[in-house]
Amino acid sequence: MKLMKFGGSSMANAKTIRQVAHIVLSAVKNEPICIVVSACQGVTNALLNCIEQAALGRKKFHTLYKAIAKQHLECLHELFAGKHRNIEAAGEKKLRALLSDLENLLEGVSLLREAAPSALDHIAGFGERLAAELFSSWLQCFHPAVCVDTRELIVTDDHFTAANVKNTETTRHIRHWQKRFTETHPDAIPVMTGFIAATEDGRSTTLGRNGSDYSAAIIGAALDVRIVEIWTDVDGVYSADPNLVDEAFVVPELSYEEAMELSHFGAKVLHPATLAPVRDREIPLLVKNTFRPEAEGTLISAVKKDSAHPSPASGITSIDDITLLSWIGRRRTEISTTVERLFRTLSEANINVFFISQASSQHSLSIAIRSCDAERAREVIREVFKAELKQRWIRLDEKADQMIVAIVGDGMRGVPGIAGKMFHSLGQQGISIRAIAQGASEHNISLVIDTKQKARALNLVHDAFFSGDKKLGLVLVGAGNVGSIFLNMLAEQMTTLRAKGFNIRLYAVANSRRMRIDPAGIDPAKGVALLNQTNKTETYNLDRLIDAARDADFLPLAFVDCTASSELVHRYSDIIRAGMHIVTPNKKANVLPMPAYRALMEEFRQHDRFFLYQTNVGAGLPVLSTLKDLLAGGDRIIRIEGVLSGTLSYLFNYYDGTKPFAEVLKQTQIDGLTEPDPREDLSGMDVARKLVIMAREIGLSMELKDVDIENLVPEELRTGKFSEHFYTRYAKFEKTMQKKLEHCKKNNCVLRYVGTLFEGKAKACLEAVPNNHPLAFTRASDNIIAMTTDRYQATPLVIQGLGAGGVVTAMGVFSDVLRLLHYLPY
Ligand code: ASP
Ligand code: MG
Repeated sequence: MKLMKFGGSSMANAKTIRQVAHIVLSAVKNEPICIVVSACQGVTNALLNCIEQAALGRKKFHTLYKAIAKQHLECLHELFAGKHRNIEAAGEKKLRALLSDLENLLEGVSLLREAAPSALDHIAGFGERLAAELFSSWLQCFHPAVCVDTRELIVTDDHFTAANVKNTETTRHIRHWQKRFTETHPDAIPVMTGFIAATEDGRSTTLGRNGSDYSAAIIGAALDVRIVEIWTDVDGVYSADPNLVDEAFVVPELSYEEAMELSHFGAKVLHPATLAPVRDREIPLLVKNTFRPEAEGTLISAVKKDSAHPSPASGITSIDDITLLSWIGRRRTEISTTVERLFRTLSEANINVFFISQASSQHSLSIAIRSCDAERAREVIREVFKAELKQRWIRLDEKADQMIVAIVGDGMRGVPGIAGKMFHSLGQQGISIRAIAQGASEHNISLVIDTKQKARALNLVHDAFFSGDKKLGLVLVGAGNVGSIFLNMLAEQMTTLRAKGFNIRLYAVANSRRMRIDPAGIDPAKGVALLNQTNKTETYNLDRLIDAARDADFLPLAFVDCTASSELVHRYSDIIRAGMHIVTPNKKANVLPMPAYRALMEEFRQHDRFFLYQTNVGAGLPVLSTLKDLLAGGDRIIRIEGVLSGTLSYLFNYYDGTKPFAEVLKQTQIDGLTEPDPREDLSGMDVARKLVIMAREIGLSMELKDVDIENLVPEELRTGKFSEHFYTRYAKFEKTMQKKLEHCKKNNCVLRYVGTLFEGKAKACLEAVPNNHPLAFTRASDNIIAMTTDRYQATPLVIQGLGAGGVVTAMGVFSDVLRLLHYLPY
């Protein structure tokens, strides 16, 4: 036999009731079944409302009552739609009889202006009685069915509104009923009322709000059914609240203990008391969705088979609106008596404590209670510890707006690192934990955190335990040459990355004028075009961007600075504090004056954020990473020299004396290989910056001004706006340049603009490089870097290749993003 319980949303209207009948009729083909129903959706609340109004003597209860009557009668008519008239008439008669009883009772309450708890329960139970009548009438059109009032089956004490079940009597009653029922109605399906019961002397009680699940479990256990099915409006028990955690999934299987922990902690799928009766008899319980019967649901049983999710945890859950009360002792006290007094006080005040944490120093004790109990708790505790408080032997501390996050799973027992993983996932994003508790059973680890971190915390913990994917959200600023190519690369790689378990989301994109923030993710292929649409973007505002990042739930986030702005670099510390890692080709941060640079690096360290700037030297070439690797391996850098500017490389590769230098320069500009003002390239500043960056990488504290720079722009041409004029005015200086070239050729050398880092000093100047020297072998706009180290002394380590341009730079930024993904913890 199988017991199927249908909740209020399954009994909402004619359409859903038809669906329920459909499910029931296909189930009864396989085995005998027993049904338990809740009141139709909203009816219990409506009834309670009615009682309240009636007790206040307000006539409004009449209107409310009429709505309830209408809801049921109309539903009946809509179901039958003119067919099976006899059954409908019989059903209507029963519904009307119940409704008239209900009306009379409400009239009575209204006359007395008072609703005793027993009256409350009696009236609240009409919802289930009406629903059971309604449904059994409809079912009778297709299969014999009988409405069963469980007040005759479930025996409770008289703790009205939340009565306690008397198990022995209940089981005896149910078994006895079953015997009679099978004799009198051999093929019929019993349709039972959930929620309601009665005392031994026959007064109506209820099992507490949402208690129909519990009724089902009690009846299922007494009938010793094969399985209890709870049919509701969700696919099962989720790994976390799906409203807050996008990646939450239905957990296919849970043990009774896990399900209990999850249901106690806010996963509102099951009434917390439901599991005990079925667990005692090892009857499996299956949670199913009435509206998606094809979904597997969640099976709760004694033996948990190996599920698809190898995580030791089964789910994450939370309790909101918590206040953390701490009792802090200032001198040695006997903790056991304190604990005894504290808990006795709270229990006498009927205050539920659902979290306790005590440090082994015995000096402090924290408890979590519902915020609505906080004031009362404070009062009673102050009263009991009056003397100690007066002497200042103890101090009380109170933190409101807290919540408990708990991770639950049988598989956690004896597995090291679970708590570590949980703490790390939260700590990584700067969420601080106020108190911790783990029971000896190791089924549950609970933490208290600030409520405002709820969504973030649930997502982070869920990611840490259940997501095989590594996530990274990107905030990209600067959609020029490098930025736009980067976005295209991202668009192309997205699917491949996803398949490899990397979940990258473009969280925001901006240029200096407009920006778009979209927590759901922006299609990188459309990112650049988007910035031209005013209706889809807002005015660029870095503060807003930073605030949005601070609130993001998709974490971690990396700020990708594709600008060359120094202004933005001055905001890096705010960006770091908002929790973002930084990836950038922008060199400005690494050449800040030493004190500012050190402070920024410290900021990264303190906040545990990564800074990736691989493209600062040699664009896509692995220059800085190689340098880092050598240093990490214990090598010592003796000398670094190289052609570090793509523009200057190009220039001197083509300047062979056949054409004047100015003409070669002009061509270079036309080929798009210079800055808009080519004097910036000729100034050697870019080379100097790269030298400083490498010097700092090695550990030297070098400033830009320490670099000995040869500026290739003649003094008198340095000022004023750049114009074509520059090239003609350069004629005066051609001779000097030509002489240098000729001198070179005579000595079997070539002209190169070389940056050198040696013995703690850096210089950037035009040099005659012997024909057979590695630096002589550059082509086009190649960069070449030769590193002489302790281990690469005889032949330096050489890195050569295209060292400038949007494509290689964007590629370098992209590989930094991937590197970041690998660095990140999970
Ligand atoms: N109808 C009752 C309530 O709303 C019992 C239930 O639905 O489980 O609380
Ligand atoms: Mg309900």
